[in-house]
Amino acid sequence: MITTINPATGEPIAEYETLDENGIDSKLEAATRAYRDWRRSPVQDRIDLLTRLGDLYESRSEELAVLAVTEMGKPITQARGEVKKCASLFHHFAKVGPAMLESEFWDLSDGGRAEGRWLPQGPVLAVMPWNFPYWQVVRFLAPTILAGNVGVLKHASLVQGVAHKIEELVLEAGGPEGLFQNLCVPSDPIGDVIADPRIVAATLTGSEGAGSAVAQQAGKHLKKVVLELGGSDPFIVMPSADIDQAVEDAVFARIQNNGQSCICGKRTIVHRDIHDAFAEKFIAALKDVKLGDPMEDDTQLGPLSSEGQRDTVLEQIENARQEGCTLLFGGEKLDRDGAWMTAGLLTDVPLASETGTDEIFGPVGQLYKADDIEEAITIANAIPFGLGSAVWTNDDDEREIFADRIEAGMTTFNAVNGSKIEAPFGGIKKSGFGRELSHHGLHEFMNLKTLVYP
Ligand code: NAP
Repeated sequence: MITTINPATGEPIAEYETLDENGIDSKLEAATRAYRDWRRSPVQDRIDLLTRLGDLYESRSEELAVLAVTEMGKPITQARGEVKKCASLFHHFAKVGPAMLESEFWDLSDGGRAEGRWLPQGPVLAVMPWNFPYWQVVRFLAPTILAGNVGVLKHASLVQGVAHKIEELVLEAGGPEGLFQNLCVPSDPIGDVIADPRIVAATLTGSEGAGSAVAQQAGKHLKKVVLELGGSDPFIVMPSADIDQAVEDAVFARIQNNGQSCICGKRTIVHRDIHDAFAEKFIAALKDVKLGDPMEDDTQLGPLSSEGQRDTVLEQIENARQEGCTLLFGGEKLDRDGAWMTAGLLTDVPLASETGTDEIFGPVGQLYKADDIEEAITIANAIPFGLGSAVWTNDDDEREIFADRIEAGMTTFNAVNGSKIEAPFGGIKKSGFGRELSHHGLHEFMNLKTLVYP
C-alpha cells in the first residue's frame, strides 16, 4: 500500500494498492497487446489523440493543478502553469509530429537509394519524479504516442494520485487500453521490470542514485536508457546585465517549485564590479519571499514535497556550516505540521566542498563572487553536473564565450532557465545522457531503419 501525504499539513490523503508480481505481469501483457495495434495505427489517429489530450489538460487544468499541490506542495499558480505547459506540448506534437516522422533519403554511389524510416520499438518504461508530476511524464508520453510506442509508468510514490490521473486521462481521451499504464509499485520491483523481455527500453528522470541503478540494469540487459538527472545550475550575472531584472529572476529561479527544480539557478555567481549592489538587493528580495499556503494565489514558497526531503535539506545546511560556509539567513525548520522551512542563503562556499558540488533540492541558495569571466566559468563548471545554466549579460562577445565554455546541456541568456516545448532538453556529465523534447527526444526510442533500394 502507498499512502500519499499532503506536505502542507502532514495529513494522509489517500491509499493506493500496490501491484504484486501477477499485477505487474498483466500490465506488461496489456502493454504488449496494445503495442501490436498501436504500432500500425495511422499517424492521424495519434495526432487526434494528442489533440484531445491537449484539450483535456486545458479544460481540466484547475482540477489537475489542485491535485498536484495537494500531493507535493508546489504553489498553485505554478501548478496551473505546469498543466498548461503539458497541454501546449500535446498540441505542439500534434502540429509538428508528422514532419518529425518523415523519412530521410540518400543517393548511393552504386546508383541505388537508401531511406531512413522511423519505426516504433515497443513498450518503454518511464521512471519519473514528483517535482513536476505532470510535466515530466507528459514530455515522455506525448512522443511515445506519436512514435507508435506504448508507455509503462513508474511514478514517484509521493504522487500516485497524479499518476493514476494521467493514466485515466489517456483513456478518457480515447487512447486504447494498455497504451499508457501506471505501475503502482515502490522502486524494488523495477529491476525485474527492466529485465523483462516485454520492455524494450527505459527512461528515468530523478536522482543520480536511481539513475545509476536503472542504467546498470538496462546495461546488463542491453536496453537503451535515457537519463535526466540532477543539477546544481549556475546563474551568472555580469556587469552589463539589467541588475534589477536579474535579482528578480535569481530569486524566482532559486525558489520556484519550492526550490525543487532540477534546473533552477542554485548557485548565483556575480561579477565583483556589481557583486555588492546585487547582493544587497538579492538578500532583501529572498528574505521577502511570501511563504504560505500553496493553494493561495500570492504564495511564492510552500512546503517541501515531504518531511524527509525537508530534513535532507536541513542536514545539508548543517553540513555546510561544518564545511566553513556562512548561512547568511533562513534555512530553518518551521514549528508547524508539514514539511516547512524558510528560504536561506549560503556564502563562503569552498568550491571543492560537498556543499559546493552537491545538489541542494530546497529553497537555499549559494552566492559566489567572481573576479572576471574566467573565474565565473571556473565556478560554473566546478560541479560534477551539467544540466542547465543562465547567464545575464548584454555583451555579445561574452555570450559566445559562455555558450562555448559552460559545461551544460542548456544555457539561457537574460532569463530564468527552463525547458522549452519546442527545443531539445537534457544534460551532460552526471546530469545524464540522451535528450527529451523535439525530434531528438522523439527519436531516442525509435528504430531508424535503413531501407536500401537498387
Ligand atoms: P528519486 O528519488 O531518484 O526518484 C525518482 C524516481 O525514481 C521515483 O519514481 C522513485 O520511486 C524512483 N526510484 C528511486 N530509486 C530507484 C531505484 N533504485 N530503482 C528504480 N527506481 C527508483 O528522485 P526524486 O527525489 O523523486 O527527484 C529529485 C531528483 O530528480 C533531483 O536530483 C532532481 O534534480 C532530479 N530531476 C531531474 C530532472 C531532469 O530533467 N534532469 C527533472 C526533475 C528532477 P519512489 O518515489 O518510489 O522512490
